[in-house]
Amino acid sequence: MMGGLVILHLYPRLMNLYGDRGNVLCLVERCRRRGIASEVRAVEVGQRLDLTDVDILFMGGGQDKEQQLAAQDMEGEKGGLLRAAVEDGLAVLAICGGYQLLGHYYRPASRPEMKGVSVLDVTTLHKGSQTSRCIGNVVAQWEGKTLVGFENHGGLTYLGPEAKPLARVVIGYGNNGQDKGEGAQYLNAFGTYLHGSFLPKNPHFADHLLRLALERRYGHASLEPLDDDLEMTAHGAAVARARGDRRWTNRALSWLKG
Ligand code: GLN
Repeated sequence: MMGGLVILHLYPRLMNLYGDRGNVLCLVERCRRRGIASEVRAVEVGQRLDLTDVDILFMGGGQDKEQQLAAQDMEGEKGGLLRAAVEDGLAVLAICGGYQLLGHYYRPASRPEMKGVSVLDVTTLHKGSQTSRCIGNVVAQWEGKTLVGFENHGGLTYLGPEAKPLARVVIGYGNNGQDKGEGAQYLNAFGTYLHGSFLPKNPHFADHLLRLALERRYGHASLEPLDDDLEMTAHGAAVARARGDRRWTNRALSWLKG
């Protein structure tokens, strides 16, 4: 049995849109299939955050109302702890509302500005309630592979010089619908608009996170390949769906029917 990993889920009850929790389940399952032990911890608003032995931090998305509670909670000591841990190489994945709060601020349409923790050099603005939301299926290019997911956000995100886009949009809006950027990254911290759940349909990205976390903790990571036929069928179906092609969707359905 290889040494284990600790996964911290920040605000699992408050920030959990479109099955974001499935990302944590996916990490646990990919560890289990390889004989790597994992432990999941949850921290909600008002609870103490201790990142000393945490390997991966995950945060999901939320509506403006929930996001505001999370933002207020992170303004305290949590923000500083997060910034220090990211500088120390902590692997972080934050989706949509969580991604926005990793930036400097999120300015919603009809609520006061929410301060982010400035882990990522990004800012997010909602252009007003008359502007339509970015909703739909997304396909993006990441390191020669595709990432798929579903986006639904009113905020448009713009990157500063310290953040680089995670992926390049092929179909969908991504960060702002203009510059083709999707998500952002700084060191081992990643933000993305892709709900879905994101990781089960993008197992190559799940393994990327696991690899970064294992390397940071143990100095090396050899992840044996897994049988990802089902995962890649779901991935292919999501690409096909985004392109309006039904063939892969049908293949995925027949797979599920056995
Ligand atoms: N409330 C944010 C927005 O609308 C984030 C939404 C989300 O997490 N899906 O932009």
